[in-house]
Parts: sequence; structure tokens; C-alpha cells
Amino acid sequence: MTVRYRDGIHFEREGEARVVADARSAVGAVNVVSHAHADHTFRTPPETVVCSAETAAIAEARTGTAFEFVERAPGIELVPAGHVVGSRAAIIDLEAVGGLDGDRDRLVTDGPQRYCYTGDFSVRDRCYLEGFDPHAVAADALVVETTYGLPKYRFPPQDELEAAIADWLRENDDRPLFLFGYSLGRAQKLQWIARDTTGDERREILVSDTIGNVNRAIERATEGGLSFSGRPYDSLRGLTDEIVILPSNQARADWVETAVDRECGLKAGFSGWAVDDSFRYRGNYDVTFPLTDHCDFDELVETVRTIDPEVVYTQHGFDEAFAEYLETEHGYRARPLKRDQRTLEEFC
Ligand SMILES: [Zn+2]
Repeated sequence: MTVRYRDGIHFEREGEARVVADARSAVGAVNVVSHAHADHTFRTPPETVVCSAETAAIAEARTGTAFEFVERAPGIELVPAGHVVGSRAAIIDLEAVGGLDGDRDRLVTDGPQRYCYTGDFSVRDRCYLEGFDPHAVAADALVVETTYGLPKYRFPPQDELEAAIADWLRENDDRPLFLFGYSLGRAQKLQWIARDTTGDERREILVSDTIGNVNRAIERATEGGLSFSGRPYDSLRGLTDEIVILPSNQARADWVETAVDRECGLKAGFSGWAVDDSFRYRGNYDVTFPLTDHCDFDELVETVRTIDPEVVYTQHGFDEAFAEYLETEHGYRARPLKRDQRTLEEFC
């Protein structure tokens, strides 16, 4: 049994990809999509995907491609990952995956069998989303996303953070505010904070078409359980005190800078990277907040210690530094999963 980072994460047994997660090519016997962010979805979906109903609906709305899905499969259990609506971590029992009953007798157990693949995750309950619960996970190998795997990435408690954002929105209620975050995730949480924590029902919330499409996909996927109040933003329109929420990749776009200048607006950026001064300059933001859909450093450490696996594989961000920290400070066998690494069998 082994795990590799190729196109997505491959969980292999006897050289065969039994489970492939978050890849562009669905080459696994079983294929998992942890959530509907573009870098985690199959370019050409396989016959059946293991994912949540919400992920299937949002991915379909974003890509225009429908696919069959199941929320359970033999050997695979999905649990809430707390990253975005529909996101799931996968608990994978490689022995039980893909109808191996016939050859079960000759199985050689050479390494971890029960993996937890977190995908992108957050342990925090925030806005309308429940956090990932590591206490609910039993696994002897953990593949963990380590975007913020350095000690400097420690974020304030969620209630403080949301209150600080709401305060800033209220303090600047006499001018248009431009807020930037990912179209799926941050953009909905910003609408929620702007509406539900400021108590300001009067102030209009406007969103880009992309964000509006994601809003509607989530509303459909949750069958009205969630709804968002953002109305379409027309960049030529004059503004007074509106809250405009736009995708973070548009923060420096000319049309945005023009509209912000013309309307005497302020720009706010939202990301864990707000801990770094450079984030503010990159987006030309007036203010930034470390609002994120990922774990901070302490939450990553606590997740590992709670699951307490025999081996930890780190992925994304500060994967090497975090693996080294786990080894030296906490005595775990840990190593980064590097893309296209030939094998992890030399690992000891
Ligand atoms: Zn993501």
C-alpha cells in the first residue's frame, strides 16, 4: 500500500491506483472529489464520482458538465471537511475498496491501510459551515493539507475576526466598500457577515456574475437551506454606500481600480496570507483580514495530534517545514508528498 502525489493523490495497492482523489484524470478504480474548487475537479469526469451531493451540484454549475455521483462507496467514507459548502475529507480503507472480496485471502498487509485524506479543510465552525472534526476520524495514515504550515500563520478566534470585519463595515457605512475573496467560499461568507453580523438590512450587497452563479448553485444544492443576498453588480453604475463583493483575482484589474477611484471606495482583502504585509500590497488593499477557509498552524498541529496516525504525509503550502516540525517537535513519522515522486516506499 502506498500513496503518491501525481495528478491528484493516488492511493495504491500492488502498483494499482485503487483510489484517486482530486485529479484532472480519473484513472482510479474509485475516484473522489473532495470539493468543487476548480483545482480539485476532474476535467473529464469518470462514470461515477464519490463526492457529496452539494459538491456534485456546484461542480456541475461551474463546469457545465453533469456526472453521476455516490456519497458512499465500499471502503470509502466521506466526512465534513469544513472548507466550503459540500467539502468532504475521505476516510479510505484500501483493503475494502473496489470490491476486492474475491482476492481478500491473499492480501498482504504491507503498510497503512486506513488513510484519512483531508483535502482542503478547516476545523473552525464559521458562518453557516461546520468545521472538520478530527475526533471523528480513526486512521493510521494521514494525508493533510498544510497551506499555512508555518508558526507565523496563527489567526484570531473566528468570532473576533467576524466582529472585526463587521465593525469595519459599520465604521465605513458612508462610502462604497469593495471586498475581495474566492468566488466559492470567501465570497459567500462575506455576504453572510455583511448581512448577518452588521444587522444592516438596508445596505445593498452587490456581487460579480461569477459569484452570483456560485450563490445560485449553493442555493440549489442545499435546497434553499442557504441563501445569499448579493445582487448583480454593474461596474458602470454609480454607488453610495454599497458593499461590492468581487473575486480576489480581480483585485488589481483596471476596471476595478477605475470603479473604486471613481466612487471613492475602499478595498478590503480576505485571506490567511493577510498575515504577510505583501498580501496588502499585491492586492492594493486599504485593509486586510485573515479570514480563511483553511486551518492555521496551531489547528494543523492539533488535527495531527488528535488523529494521532502512525504516519503523516503533508501536501501544499509549507509541506516540508510542517513535516519537519512534526518529526522534531512531536516525534511523528512525517514527510511531504512531492508531485511525481517515484515512490514513498523508501520512507522510514
Ligand atoms: Zn479549496
